[in-house]
Amino acid sequence: MSKIILTAPNSPLREGIEHILDSLAPPPAGKTIWVKPNMLGPFAAERGVTTSPEVLEAVVDALLDRHADVIVGDNPGVPGNQENIAKATGLLDASKGCWRNIGADTCEVHLTGRWSDISINISSIWLQADLIINLPCLKTHALTLMTGAVKNMFGGVPGRTKSWLHTLAPSADTFASLLAEIYSIRPPELVIMDALRVMEGNGPSAGRLRPLGIIIGGDNNVSVDAVGCIIMGRRPERIPLLREAARRGLGEIDPDRMLIEGEIPVMDRFKMPSNTLAFVANRFNPLAGVCAVVPQIVEDKCIRCGLCARTCRSTAIIKSNKALQIDRRRCISCYCCAEVCPQQAVRIPRIREDLVRRLFGMFRRRS
Ligand code: SF4
Ligand code: SF4
Repeated sequence: MSKIILTAPNSPLREGIEHILDSLAPPPAGKTIWVKPNMLGPFAAERGVTTSPEVLEAVVDALLDRHADVIVGDNPGVPGNQENIAKATGLLDASKGCWRNIGADTCEVHLTGRWSDISINISSIWLQADLIINLPCLKTHALTLMTGAVKNMFGGVPGRTKSWLHTLAPSADTFASLLAEIYSIRPPELVIMDALRVMEGNGPSAGRLRPLGIIIGGDNNVSVDAVGCIIMGRRPERIPLLREAARRGLGEIDPDRMLIEGEIPVMDRFKMPSNTLAFVANRFNPLAGVCAVVPQIVEDKCIRCGLCARTCRSTAIIKSNKALQIDRRRCISCYCCAEVCPQQAVRIPRIREDLVRRLFGMFRRRS
């Protein structure tokens, strides 16, 4: 049975983390421990896109006190120097000298099942560490509806491989299958989920933060995500990644079958991403693809940094009259562009608005 600990809202952070470590983790002394925060890109800590520096700092302090050999690192979703990105997020300082560029040392792994013809490079620390402590934050996600512990392990894959993998699995269901496969390379032994603030709306980088003030510890990543999903007011079995992970026997998503210490606070009127309706419609043939919502670039907000275009493996982002535009015929609606944009300039419209835009475009082309 998975064991889950939810701290009381706004209780002392260090105490809660020590309790989770002492209750759920094997003794850390003398072990090499990879602490894996969420470091999506160079977003300032107050944006709540990445793991809170205070959570990372408390975990590192507690592990160093317990004589562990700590390595902190993540492979961001954007190109650039890892150390500079870590500095911008506050995670470099919070790692107390334990930061390492984990993208520099990689090894090849072969995936299995329906993905058996694929080999990818992952950070070697993923296989080499004696113990992995996963530090995700709880957020919505335009492609996977929610992101937490299981999705956070996608960061074990360095460089542009992540966006290439998106092109192999463009639908929510196939991407869920691929994420579950990658996660199962080696599930972390412990999760300490940062739910001090929870992102609603168009996560994982352009949503709105709501304070919650809790930390969720667990010895199973899938179960921690299921609890996070309940906090968002959603049923875990409705999230493709959690359903797929449960189907593979990677973890329990029914809270009645978990040992839970503490209360699960369900957030009132929690907002999911604006494309949720399209997400649901796309799961049913023959509508599949027809309802795919293509993002828009908001000219007023865009600073023309080009990060979205460099991230898009479908080369769907093109320059038109100096502004950037998204070519609908090439776009696979992976939303990587929205994820990496530092200005929240990539907007994901609602399905109705996108359909009107599409019809208008067809009409314009014909006339
Ligand atoms: S949309 Fe965002 S990422 Fe793309 S060029 Fe504009 S500011 Fe940069
Ligand atoms: S334009 Fe954005 S959503 Fe479309 S394929 Fe490129 S990165 Fe993905």
